[in-house]
Amino acid sequence: MLKKFHREIEYCTYCPKLCRFSCPVGNATGNETYTPWGRQSLLHLVGEGAIPWGREVAASVYRCTTCMLCREYCDHELEIPPVMLAARAKAVKDKMQPQEAVEFKGFFAEQHNPMGDDLSARLHSLLPKSLFNPDAQVVYFPGCVMIYNYPQTIKNTFRLFEALDVNYVACYDADVPCCGVPLHDHGYEDEFKANAEKLSQKLAKAKAVVCGCPSCAWALKTMLPGVGVKITDRIYHLTEFLAPLVAEGKLPIRRPYPKRLIYHDPCYLGRYLGVYDQPRNLLNEVCREPLVEFSWNRNKSYCCGGGGGIPVSNPVLAREIAAQRLTEANEGEKKSVVTACPSCMRAFQKADESLEVLDIVDVLVRCI
Ligand code: SF4
Ligand code: SF4
Repeated sequence: MLKKFHREIEYCTYCPKLCRFSCPVGNATGNETYTPWGRQSLLHLVGEGAIPWGREVAASVYRCTTCMLCREYCDHELEIPPVMLAARAKAVKDKMQPQEAVEFKGFFAEQHNPMGDDLSARLHSLLPKSLFNPDAQVVYFPGCVMIYNYPQTIKNTFRLFEALDVNYVACYDADVPCCGVPLHDHGYEDEFKANAEKLSQKLAKAKAVVCGCPSCAWALKTMLPGVGVKITDRIYHLTEFLAPLVAEGKLPIRRPYPKRLIYHDPCYLGRYLGVYDQPRNLLNEVCREPLVEFSWNRNKSYCCGGGGGIPVSNPVLAREIAAQRLTEANEGEKKSVVTACPSCMRAFQKADESLEVLDIVDVLVRCI
């Protein structure tokens, strides 16, 4: 299972840790074992038979947010998350996964989502019946975190569609609400595939899917085809869908957004999907004040700590990573954080309850 990553594992083991400073987990823990070099070296030693493949090594591969920031500092452009995820799948097969992963799988199975709640009921109580249409060709897929934590952002999304005269987008009916990323993050590949197959049946009629969450967009675009599950290839994150419409002047902007905002690039929207300009263009259309940038921005954006299953397996670590990211946002003049991912929002709000954190959609709605 890990043989196909021989090159990656070997390169890291003999590397002078060029990406050491970029790893949010290594930085937050101050522990070399939890850097790309540390985790890969452990896998190398296992491969050489120098140490056993046991729970300790398995636990280390679960300590990666999958943020992909290390790739940006690697001369070989190595991608560490696929190695970590393959090692997690091996841990599951060998029953070496951490107890938190075992419990998560059971929890997910109860409602077929990571929230442990009936998300279909939540969505139906939130939106009018007219916004659901099983035959729609363009579907808005909010994602579990958005449905559970940010229902107002979903309402705001449909308010924007209305203001833009977009009447052809229906809301996805959430009885298979999850894209499956949390299962995959915890090493449950078979369960991910089963979820993907159910999801593809639900989306069989869709010619395009617009996602509220970058991880969902990445999953539908690449991970489902990766396990042989067919789905439309027209998958967009909401900012990609909205940006051209707003640029054409279709959004009736009545008042500019008055507060200072700092934009956080979500890892999956930026490094994974390559979407950097559209969120900024949307915000620049409506903000009175110039948008503030983190010094680590775009492809170098620092992780919020909300990915890779870390909030489940190690919530204290997740909060520490988010707090490190927010240090800069809290410096100097007061500003709110704006982003385009519900998992980033949740991670930031858990780290600093006093901070205002917004989705781009919430900013746009306040201007119409
Ligand atoms: S990811 Fe690249 S820079 Fe980082 S330890 Fe591995 S080889 Fe070195
Ligand atoms: S993907 Fe992110 S968390 Fe994982 S090893 Fe690389 S920098 Fe660290």
